[in-house]
Amino acid sequence: MDIFTRLTPAILKTTKDYIAALEAIEIMTVGDLLRYLPRDYEDLSQMMTLLKAPLGEKVTLRGTIDKLKLVRTRSKKQLIQGVFIDEDGETAQVVWFNQPHIMRMLKDGDDVVFTGKIVENGYKLQIQSPTFESAKREIMLHGGRIVPVYPQHNIINTKWLREKMALVKPVIDQLEDPLPKEVVEENGLLSYRDTVRALHFPDDLALTEKAKERLAFEELYGLQREALLKKQEWQGHHQKRLEIPMDTELIKALFASLSFTPTNSQKIAIYEILRDMEKDRPMSRLLEGDVGSGKTLVAVSVMANVIRRGGQCALMVPTEVLAKQHSEGITRLLVNFHRYLTDQKKADHAFPHLPSIVLLTGSTPSSEALAIKQGLATGTIDLVIGTHALIEESVTFKDLKLVIVDEQHRFGVMQRAKLKEKGSPHFLAMTATPIPRTLALTAFGDHDLSVLLEKPGNRKKIHTKVVPPKDRTTVERFIDHEIEQGRQVFVICPLITESAHDEMAEVKNVETERARLQHEFPKRSITMLHGKMTPAEKEEIMRRFKARESDILVSTSVIEVGIDIPNATIIVIEGSERFGLAQLHQFRGRVGRSDIQSHCFLFTTSPEQARSQRLKAMEQHDSGFMLAEIDLQLRGPGELYGLRQSGIGLTRLSGLLNPELVVKARRAAEKVLGMVGTSSGTGLNV
Ligand code: ADP
Ligand code: MG
Repeated sequence: MDIFTRLTPAILKTTKDYIAALEAIEIMTVGDLLRYLPRDYEDLSQMMTLLKAPLGEKVTLRGTIDKLKLVRTRSKKQLIQGVFIDEDGETAQVVWFNQPHIMRMLKDGDDVVFTGKIVENGYKLQIQSPTFESAKREIMLHGGRIVPVYPQHNIINTKWLREKMALVKPVIDQLEDPLPKEVVEENGLLSYRDTVRALHFPDDLALTEKAKERLAFEELYGLQREALLKKQEWQGHHQKRLEIPMDTELIKALFASLSFTPTNSQKIAIYEILRDMEKDRPMSRLLEGDVGSGKTLVAVSVMANVIRRGGQCALMVPTEVLAKQHSEGITRLLVNFHRYLTDQKKADHAFPHLPSIVLLTGSTPSSEALAIKQGLATGTIDLVIGTHALIEESVTFKDLKLVIVDEQHRFGVMQRAKLKEKGSPHFLAMTATPIPRTLALTAFGDHDLSVLLEKPGNRKKIHTKVVPPKDRTTVERFIDHEIEQGRQVFVICPLITESAHDEMAEVKNVETERARLQHEFPKRSITMLHGKMTPAEKEEIMRRFKARESDILVSTSVIEVGIDIPNATIIVIEGSERFGLAQLHQFRGRVGRSDIQSHCFLFTTSPEQARSQRLKAMEQHDSGFMLAEIDLQLRGPGELYGLRQSGIGLTRLSGLLNPELVVKARRAAEKVLGMVGTSSGTGLNV
């Protein structure tokens, strides 16, 4: 028998049914079977006696069986009864339901080891449906040791697997290590064989832990390798035209033209990006920064540098509202900058002309869109801001050097492929979703990473309160008082879980909430926003809200983020327990955009939820990164916002909770791929 031996009933001492069930989950050979690993362990290493064993917990007992009999219950069920006598002579009743075959496997007087739960049945102790094996057996499989628990598939269950793994155990010594030998050695990992042995036959829990860590490493390594290959592929071949020298004087002048001083984080990020763009390969970088951390200035600075060198830029955002807001804000910044340069008589030197900036979205009139496309193709336009419309085939550029994608971490492979056709520009993705570093490095491992850690200006911390149902009235009175003072309020409706894809349910939800609020706040004007509205309708509502035409804006949770309304200082989130911390934090970022004290109220459906550790974290922390780390620890990687969209099934990735392991795996993959040193700037050295 070796790892390639095809599994048969004879080899596994089993029936055809079992072999078929294994084949259904692609376990064909002995090697495949050995690679089917446990998902958990139970410590049954201590032998108990009936008097010592805790009730209701799984325990292992040794003793003799007696008085076995098969009876039929009134409901026609088959019941096996027997008496178990432990080593101290204490007795308990044993029962099995509907397993008549047990009569063939046990007989009175057998020495057995039982593993199961003991319950009190009247005055007697009863052991219900225990697993058992002969006490004379050399190796105990199901009790009297730490036992592995396997994922169950059809008839393939844990007990069966423990038996079969024992049969094929010797073949472990032939397994090939999927990791390169030097990776195993350099990182002090267990060999694959030792790992598999420690996982199937866990005599030593410390060793089993090391084995799990090695598996986690292997998984992370695989992801890193894949990501780095993607990066290599994106960076393809050298292109002289992509080398864009950094103009430090220009950046300094841009800073001087601002009404504020850039934060250190902003300066560092700008520097990292500009340095990347001096190379002759397309940049692939992710800029992470909390809502309000000033990502726009970073984008503007690097775009200014490109435009100054005669290249074109495209800024892509997920929604029309955001596109419009960016185009206004960025135009204002660059016009100011140009005016500053002109006043300083520096224009000739640094920034020859007022950059030409256009907005292109799905609702741009077609004649205008045509003119824009021409301008982009001939190079008279320096910067285009817009939605996905930007990467349509009909849009061509004379010399596209930089693409920035804002608030869109779902930017897919397809879209990247389209960018290649547009001249493989430098690529920068910006996201306000605070992704823990380990996760960013894994899920977006094909990007280098820049992070904005500080918040600009001297913004006040947003006062955050988790509100149990009984305090609702008090809080609503406070809100009414704030509205009286001229403030405005956002209300986010709860996430509709049952019918997430039913947009009408979402609309109804908003309407119900609006009606309720109108009842609570009879004097106030309330508007609403939901996904069924056209972009023009949404924009009109936002414009009017910004112009203070209403006091309260009710919206669904899926409505866009990033809208700047400084006078809105209160945000209420209904059913907050349904949201992840990262998402709550993102909602909260809609307020606190001025020097006025802002408030965030997290309403919960039940009083218990208001006490949850997770929601309480919102009261304590105002850093998105901190909250993301907490979410990762409390809910595990699978739940994290942004991860599912990344397309990586990280169900097993416990390794993400271990930052050192992530870094080790990335370093190892870089080394094997000959990419040593490219991780500077990914924050690995922090
Ligand atoms: P986000 O990272 O969420 O995109 P923005 O770029 O929209 O943040 O910036 C939020 C606000 O902070 C804007 O009004 C911007 O002008 C302002 N801002 C950006 N950088 C600074 C800074 N260094 N000091 C003070 N205000 C700043
Ligand atoms: Mg932004």
